[in-house]
Amino acid sequence: MAYDNDNIFACILRREIPAEKVYEDEHVLAFHDIGKLAPVHVLVIPKGAYISIDDFSERASDAELVAYVRAVGRVARKLGVAKTGYRVVTNCGTDANQEVSHFHSHIFGGRKLGGVRPPHSG
Ligand code: 5GP
Repeated sequence: MAYDNDNIFACILRREIPAEKVYEDEHVLAFHDIGKLAPVHVLVIPKGAYISIDDFSERASDAELVAYVRAVGRVARKLGVAKTGYRVVTNCGTDANQEVSHFHSHIFGGRKLGGVRPPHSG
């Protein structure tokens, strides 16, 4: 599958559509999710054209990989959820309902998040 240059996060990276920025560095952008599911709901994306975590883990440079993981922690600390706890979720592909085909992680926090279970067993 080829990277879609017109996916919504690519548009945000090109500043064609606005996003409420939380953090940015050479390799990473983080911004508030438009469909907030928790008091803190931020998306962390690499600036490079990667479709999924599978793609990112295979093709990203060491610098991009390090920057990404560091950015997740920086965002969590900046927004205060590192003190109380937070969840990092990355949907990958069809079975996980990945809606936007530019690799991203959700950071959820600011309330009790409950346990994590797949919706159906088997
Ligand atoms: P996925 O299901 O791919 O893991 O999550 C995609 C996320 O992108 C969803 O939580 C959705 O609310 C968010 N999203 C979709 N379009 C936009 C947008 O234009 N701006 C922002 N900030 N978030 C978006």
